[in-house]
Amino acid sequence: MRKFNFSSGPGIMPLSVLQQSAEGILNFDQHGISIAELPHRHPWFRDILDELIALFRELLHLSDEHEVIILQGGARIQFAQIPMNFLQKHETAGFVDTGYWAHKAMEYCRLYGDTRVLSSSENLGYRCIPQLPSGPDDIKYVHIAANNTIYGTQYRQLPTLNTPLIVDMSSEILGIRRDFSHIDLAFACAQKNIGPAGVSVVIVKKDFLALATDRVPPVFSYKNLLDQKSNYATPPVVNVYMSLLNLRWLKAHGGVDNLQQLNEQKAALLYNEIDHNALFSCPVMPADRSLMNICFSASDEAMEKSFLQFCSDNEIIGLGGHSSAGALRASLYNAQPIENVQYLVQVMREFSNRYS
Ligand SMILES: *Cc1c(COP(=O)(O)O)cnc(C)c1O
Repeated sequence: MRKFNFSSGPGIMPLSVLQQSAEGILNFDQHGISIAELPHRHPWFRDILDELIALFRELLHLSDEHEVIILQGGARIQFAQIPMNFLQKHETAGFVDTGYWAHKAMEYCRLYGDTRVLSSSENLGYRCIPQLPSGPDDIKYVHIAANNTIYGTQYRQLPTLNTPLIVDMSSEILGIRRDFSHIDLAFACAQKNIGPAGVSVVIVKKDFLALATDRVPPVFSYKNLLDQKSNYATPPVVNVYMSLLNLRWLKAHGGVDNLQQLNEQKAALLYNEIDHNALFSCPVMPADRSLMNICFSASDEAMEKSFLQFCSDNEIIGLGGHSSAGALRASLYNAQPIENVQYLVQVMREFSNRYS
């Protein structure tokens, strides 16, 4: 039996995708070899990469303005790779401080240039998205996290700036429709909404990419990775293939617009229970609540511990929050069926009937 998995990452994947992956591990498309044995220069892998990139373009409604690059590794590598490509020693990158991942990105960025916090919700415990003052100039680009996996906040609308905008979409990509026309570079690690950990995607405007320096090791150079059609150093072939299967699943399920509608229903269901069940509360301000990561707490620590135990007794896993934020968190990525959210709500009610 499959557990009810609410982990924040690596997150839940559709069962049909896992079954197809298992078949591919044993005998990829009836070709008589495992996908794990497929050389990355083989035309079959070229087809996999091309289809994956085409699906990103289609599902995200990208225009010809943007390029899509598939990369090795996770989001932290992008925290370094972005300034490596776009920031010189004397230049400044601006950040919106929405907590943990903004801090990590700044820490990496400071090794390459200067950083400046443009706005912060620290004094509000990161329970909301801070407003950005208009027209920050003398900075090279602004870096924001669209969905804050740890604090459960998310931009309803991304800002439009007169400075290049870089967006960490790690935990929301493909789960919400975004207008890319004002985004110069977006990136996401795979393990929340794309596929297994070990792959990332970068979506970059051609105009912006032209500003990248050439003084970067080729394996970190976006220009080189694009020239090599995302197949420079050996990509994680299995993970790229599983990501493709997942994006095919997403397309078959009506694409991002349909998934977003479902994600809104799932999130509303859970927030509604948290707001109406006397035992639980959500610290995040309603206007900035995430569709993907629902943070909540119970009346006290002992109650949270027994709730997590009660969940575990009922086959629910992954509800523990990040150590630097609230105690409870349910991640409702695309692959999370609404039935699982209904089940969680039912378990919350049973728990509160028993303990309050
Ligand atoms: C998970 C996550 C990261 C870090 O991803 P890694 O692949 O572990 O480096 C960065 N930013 C956001 C918003 C995330 O959710």
